[in-house]
Amino acid sequence: MARAVDPVGTAAGGWDTVRGRERQLQSDNGSGGPVEETPVDIIVVDDSPTQVEYLRRILLDAGYTVRTASGAEACLGSCRTSPPALILSDLVMPGISGLELVRAVRNDRELCDIPVILLTADHDPEHVIDALRAGAANYVSKPFVPEVLIQRIGWTLEAHGYARSPTPIPSGPGLFATLRSALEDAATRARELERSRAALAAAIRQRDELVAVVAHDLRTPLQVLQGHASLAARDGTGRILAGLAEVVNDQTATMVRLIDDLVDATQAESGVLQVQPQPIDLVKVIASCVVAMRHRWPNHPMTADGPASAMIHADGRRLAQVVTNLLDNAAKYSDAGSPIAVTVIERSDAVQVSIADRGIGIPKAQRQVIFERHGRTDAGRAKASGSGLGLFICRELIHLHGGTVTVEDNPPTGSRFVVTLPRDSGATRSG
Ligand code: ADP
Repeated sequence: MARAVDPVGTAAGGWDTVRGRERQLQSDNGSGGPVEETPVDIIVVDDSPTQVEYLRRILLDAGYTVRTASGAEACLGSCRTSPPALILSDLVMPGISGLELVRAVRNDRELCDIPVILLTADHDPEHVIDALRAGAANYVSKPFVPEVLIQRIGWTLEAHGYARSPTPIPSGPGLFATLRSALEDAATRARELERSRAALAAAIRQRDELVAVVAHDLRTPLQVLQGHASLAARDGTGRILAGLAEVVNDQTATMVRLIDDLVDATQAESGVLQVQPQPIDLVKVIASCVVAMRHRWPNHPMTADGPASAMIHADGRRLAQVVTNLLDNAAKYSDAGSPIAVTVIERSDAVQVSIADRGIGIPKAQRQVIFERHGRTDAGRAKASGSGLGLFICRELIHLHGGTVTVEDNPPTGSRFVVTLPRDSGATRSG
């Protein structure tokens, strides 16, 4: 007599009868592999041809023979011609729904033994209960992973006498298979919930940290402005008033930078950060950044080395933002008086910019993390306030140019950030 394939690979072999009808079981061929003779026949019912094809492929790969039907009526017709071992049907279909199909099968004396598995829209318990109430043998929540689908089909067939379980089924086999499915779903849901809870807790921690940093970094320049304004108001000589414009300029620039970083980081995260490449002289861009940063960090000697010019196709404003952030960090994370060196090296197809400092350095283990959103080192946190957004934005901007940014040691102490940019990035926007 012909034997059915055990798609789950759990059957140990043998024969069984269910509700008086003899059914064929998997037999082990001694090598542990399935015996391929008469595969189990399944009808897949779904109004979506793509979904039908997807399910068909999964079932074929698992060793079943598959018939397909685009709706419940076609399925019932096919069943009457030749009853399948199992029906796998979508719950929601135009015309006759999956639930009505289950009822029709149950009420048909010829077909009532055929187990029906319904594909329900999500983990909604209402759907599952409706399906089981209507007489479905089991259910699979969408979206599903193919392994879960195959496992559910295996359990259901097993419960209907198509395979022998490695552990004996105690009683009420249909119920046992469904309970197993429900328990597995519950366990999956619990794992998903735990993962979401941990991710949410991390996001809340990051948000709190960001709020504290933003509050601090906005309050500090405001306090400086307030202090200078009140000094100027009390100063009869007008000397403080004369310097006030520069203080206002510097402090508001700091605040605007922070706000810009927040906007850029949000855009980078949603993939809409843009660059507008055009022919630029990178050396010129870097030189003007160095001038501005010498002004901002007068206690850090800054040197710049390289060719007289380096023409590339890139977004000059965005590259200035990157270089400024790297120079700012080099100063922020090193002591006053410690030098910062910028070097530009031209290659045939790319230009390399390195920014080296003699600061606190970055441990090897944290050289990836610092390019993540809010990624900071412990030493960095202890040394200076920061949002942890700058390098995240830098990396996105450099990637948009088709380039790379990495960090290495700068022996004997400090870090060296290396930005490599292709001469012609061809980039226009993130994606
Ligand atoms: P922020 O400086 O605002 O925190 P960044 O994204 O620019 O944000 O930098 C992320 C982290 O990387 C910093 O908090 C710091 O821990 C580390 N870091 C960046 N540049 C340097 C550097 N030159 N030397 C040492 N640590 C650095």
